Amino acid sequence: MYVNLKDMCRQAKEGHYAIGHFNINNLEWTQAILQAAEESRSPVILSSSEGAGKYMGGFPVVAAMVKALIETMNITVPVALHLDHGTYDGCLKCIRAGFSSIMFDGSKYDIEENKQKTSILVNAAHINGLSIEAEVGAIGGEEDGVIGMGECADPSQCAEIAELGVDILAAGIGNIHGKYPANWAGLQFDVLEKVQKATGGIPLVLHGGTGIPDDQIKKAISLGVSKINVNTDCQLAFADATRKYIEAGKDLEGKGFDPRKLLAPGKAAIVELVKQKMELFGSAGKA
Ligand SMILES: [Zn+2]
Repeated sequence: MYVNLKDMCRQAKEGHYAIGHFNINNLEWTQAILQAAEESRSPVILSSSEGAGKYMGGFPVVAAMVKALIETMNITVPVALHLDHGTYDGCLKCIRAGFSSIMFDGSKYDIEENKQKTSILVNAAHINGLSIEAEVGAIGGEEDGVIGMGECADPSQCAEIAELGVDILAAGIGNIHGKYPANWAGLQFDVLEKVQKATGGIPLVLHGGTGIPDDQIKKAISLGVSKINVNTDCQLAFADATRKYIEAGKDLEGKGFDPRKLLAPGKAAIVELVKQKMELFGSAGKA
């Protein structure tokens, strides 16, 4: 079932669980995440960054692939297709391409310009039946080349952006994209509580879900996080399984070099990892 993410995130918030957002890179990743969602009876958000969209041949290819797989794989759980950290132009392209959701990352603009652009995109998204995520402040770490250090958002700016009618809101609470450094201070729950209070209970998004300890994930969900972005974890699982296959020399046995065999262990690893995340986030069994 192809849907936007508004209802699934509202329901998650009411039910005190979170929906996993998993980045896709190709056919195998998309199949793996859809399979895991169906087997776990969990709603799911598939997401493409602008770079991944380009890699896969453009946003129309991504949207067509996801919609076709939902049909041919008989996927019955709710599936949203979301643009991750979109630019203004990228958001408009995804609306045209048939995505069901967009994220506008206006964190590089000052708050007034972020608000102005977000406001236009809220209207464009909603008129076309899409949901929209906005971002306040930068998420630390490597965000398409921008390096930060576990920044925290200003709750009053979060309120200003939430008032524009966005469906979900990403705010920095000390989280970081990519791998977390050994001396990481952890999630700033006081900031999370202030943001949630200032925004009147809008569902919140936790970016950089890889490497946050399980107890902090659960606490964040209890404080209003309804969507958790997972990217690096799937990349590491895929690379690790592929490395083991090659190091065991399996590509040299028989037809082990067949790409369908070569990519199979990585794909299976993603299915397992995504299922584990759906259990941890509490979304398993909710669809
Ligand atoms: Zn992010």
